[in-house]
Amino acid sequence: MIAWVEQLDAAYAEHRDWLTELDAAIGDADHGINMARGFAAVHQALDAASPTEIGAALKLVAMTLLKTVGGASGPLYGTFFFKAALACADASELDPATLERLFRDGSDGIAQRGKAVVGDKTMIDAWEPAIQALARARSEDASIPQMLAAAAEAATAGRDGTVPLVARKGRASYLGERSRNHMDPGAASTVLMLEAARDRLLPSS
Ligand code: ADP
Ligand code: MG
Repeated sequence: MIAWVEQLDAAYAEHRDWLTELDAAIGDADHGINMARGFAAVHQALDAASPTEIGAALKLVAMTLLKTVGGASGPLYGTFFFKAALACADASELDPATLERLFRDGSDGIAQRGKAVVGDKTMIDAWEPAIQALARARSEDASIPQMLAAAAEAATAGRDGTVPLVARKGRASYLGERSRNHMDPGAASTVLMLEAARDRLLPSS
């Protein structure tokens, strides 16, 4: 879990300018800056606290994002990690069922907080198909790496599907028709989050 979050620090630092360019087109050009700042702070907080329980680690991620990331995405990703922490309760190991609950509750938390549904051209367009793919993989007895690979692939298709949409939520919705033909920045940062999970959130055995 900690390896995943450390990888997010690296991934958002690497893709900061790209995410910010996407947000410059249909928002206020801060999404890459927000994510890079947030996950640098998360990395530091985890190093300082060295939590040993999954739920405690995820709660610290949530609190740090809420404190350090302004804009829409701070509270939305903060909610993801807060709900994910609750879903893990006091589990000390991630099994496929706990992993599915973590991602499902986190994604539902974002949708509730943002009042967004699929097709609104938000990060939910990446999250929702990802969670469905993850659940489908688990129902077919996939391993955790296979579940996360399926989620990342579905999120990528969902992200690309935001391009032709008109935004109905968030800052981009102020543009109306002019939001069409641009990728949603939050859907792009969601794919990076899931790709990092696929690459780093590995069973310890
Ligand atoms: P802000 O829009 O406040 O500048 P960011 O630029 O960091 O915040 O994040 C923008 C992203 O947040 C959007 O690309 C979109 O994916 C997501 N977003 C905005 N509003 C909502 C919402 N109501 N529900 C879900 N996601 C949202
Ligand atoms: Mg923005």
